[in-house]
Amino acid sequence: MRRVLLVALLAGCATADGPSVLPPPGPDPVTPLPLDVSGWVNSSDGTIPLVIIAPHGGDLAPTELPDRDCAGCETVNDANTQALALEIADAFERRVGRRPFVVINRLHRRKFDANRDQGEATDDHAPLFPLWTLFHQRIDSAKARALRVHTRALVIDLHGHAHAVPRLELGYLLSAANLRLPAAQLRPFLFASSIAGLDSTSVVGDSGIALLTGPRALGTRLAALGYPAVPSATDPAPLLGESYFNGGFNTARHGSQAGGAVDAVQIECNFTGVRDTATSRTVFADALVTALLAYFDDHYDWSPA
Ligand SMILES: [Zn+2]
Repeated sequence: MRRVLLVALLAGCATADGPSVLPPPGPDPVTPLPLDVSGWVNSSDGTIPLVIIAPHGGDLAPTELPDRDCAGCETVNDANTQALALEIADAFERRVGRRPFVVINRLHRRKFDANRDQGEATDDHAPLFPLWTLFHQRIDSAKARALRVHTRALVIDLHGHAHAVPRLELGYLLSAANLRLPAAQLRPFLFASSIAGLDSTSVVGDSGIALLTGPRALGTRLAALGYPAVPSATDPAPLLGESYFNGGFNTARHGSQAGGAVDAVQIECNFTGVRDTATSRTVFADALVTALLAYFDDHYDWSPA
């Protein structure tokens, strides 16, 4: 009798419509489908040796993603920096008919911090790991494509700060204390900065502290156009006690600190008159284009034909 039942069950397994001892088909309930993260990075191609990153201006906060609540983790956005990145790209197009590469994180910082290592960026929420990878792949791809037609390129990591002194803070991975050193003592630290490679490749031959506070330094160019900046000729270093952002994860990952032909600078923008209104952003973007065209001509041997 038992043998008959077993044969009947086995026969059932072998037929399409009969009874089955296998579990019902369908997704394993403990293995969720991967997130489609592709819409949370917005990137566009360029043709000039510049890649603009906006990691902290995202406006999307899908409810299915948990809020980041890790100890010490920052969750406040840098207001209007996504719009500012796009405005800078548009300003290049208006001026020279060519655009930079642009890579934008679309998620609000409450959900994802695109200027941190993977663990802190996602608060260890594994489904977001592919987004972190995609964000940096897009930057790597933009850098590689820029280097196909240019000998050297620059990454700008665009941010906004709320410090007491209303000025642009340019971050090269040099601390405020390092920037306060005399030129000869500062020089070795520049070799570990995010523009380390520029020290030996600047077309006009600028090196060392000249790249930070000389007449052709980016901060000096911006200050001359009405946008105070540190470091620059007129403001070479933050004073003791002044707040200053000197660069972060992206500046370190995507600059020339460890070699290569791509430099990086973090630009932390003050709010009023720079990124607060559409008019401010347009006027600042035009000034930044002016400064960068001079900077590329001086140091990168590139100017629009
Ligand atoms: Zn930021």
